[in-house]
Amino acid sequence: GEEFVVTPWEVRGKVDYDKLLAHFGARPLTPSDVELLAKYAGEVHPLIRRGFFYAHRDFDEILRWHGSGRPWALYTGRGPSGPVHIGHMVPWILLKWFSDKFGLEVYFQMTDDEKFYDDPELSLADTRRWAYENALDVIALGFTPDRLHLIIDTLDIKPLFPIAVKTAKKLTWNTVKATFGFTDSTNIGLIFYPSLQIAVAFLPTELRGEATPVLIPCAIDQDPYFRLARDIAESLGYPKPATLYSKFIMSLTGESKMSASNPDSAIYTIDDEKTVRRKIMNAFTGGRPTAEEQRKLGGNPNICPVFHYHMLFDPDDKSVEKIRQDCRSGALLCGECKLMLHDKISRFLKQHREAREKARDKVDQYRLSSKL
Ligand code: SF4
Repeated sequence: GEEFVVTPWEVRGKVDYDKLLAHFGARPLTPSDVELLAKYAGEVHPLIRRGFFYAHRDFDEILRWHGSGRPWALYTGRGPSGPVHIGHMVPWILLKWFSDKFGLEVYFQMTDDEKFYDDPELSLADTRRWAYENALDVIALGFTPDRLHLIIDTLDIKPLFPIAVKTAKKLTWNTVKATFGFTDSTNIGLIFYPSLQIAVAFLPTELRGEATPVLIPCAIDQDPYFRLARDIAESLGYPKPATLYSKFIMSLTGESKMSASNPDSAIYTIDDEKTVRRKIMNAFTGGRPTAEEQRKLGGNPNICPVFHYHMLFDPDDKSVEKIRQDCRSGALLCGECKLMLHDKISRFLKQHREAREKARDKVDQYRLSSKL
């Protein structure tokens, strides 16, 4: 039987990230790719250095394109069907880093249409409301309106639609069926939708009137969209998008990916302090059943979501390495380790909540429509 399943809508089982790459046909990030990044950025972000972003398509190509002085941009998105958890923020933190380091504009798509098509429980008003709510979390990372262009699909469709139309004509039913696993009972909204997600990859070229490829940092499950985008780009006169893929964020309860149906599996940016503390203190760990055994045998940080979050949110390599070693040797017990994590996360969230509230009246200033 199958060991694991990864599609844009579902992740099941224990993910083998190397197999997944081979299956999708993307490339692992090599030391020479990372060196090229260091050459142009002056440093390498911890999320790349630590291997959380681990694969790509043409990341090296777009860096060389940058090296030749030509324009490029960043693109990512979010399906607005509920609150944002701190795992969602991880690729956005990298996005902000790229934008700052390279002076790049960011196209951020809120797919309120897709979430409405996909979820029988959600109204279009719901997904639009979540698009506005989720935008607060993106803006809170410190973006200014000249750098961040928000596209809420059902509101900001105008510049995208002609591109989506050209894209749709290049995609056959056979192709999207094979790529996304659509069936005879899939609604036609979902069947058209990939042309809209792909269209944003071509939008900067249209808006600037010159070849402007995008770099798309996202989780590996989004590869099917951008594989198709790359297949058809040149026939439409657009440069191929480049991608940078992350692994999935571990759930606090120990599964490969967080699930929206179990709120304890993730920390949401709108969780209050008590809830955050409870979720961290109750998290699954790679520890031993008793303190005595842990002192003697040590824990396993590789399977531990608490360690995973230290790795994602602590910028200091030495501190993360010390936690790894002290866990392995048994010098650190899980209770203490969780308190340390709680300290880091609550500091991040305190600052984030304030910035998020300040953004509340400003979302429309960031929308692409307000600038065209
Ligand atoms: Fe996880 Fe920390 Fe316990 Fe090690 S000590 S298993 S990293 S919680």
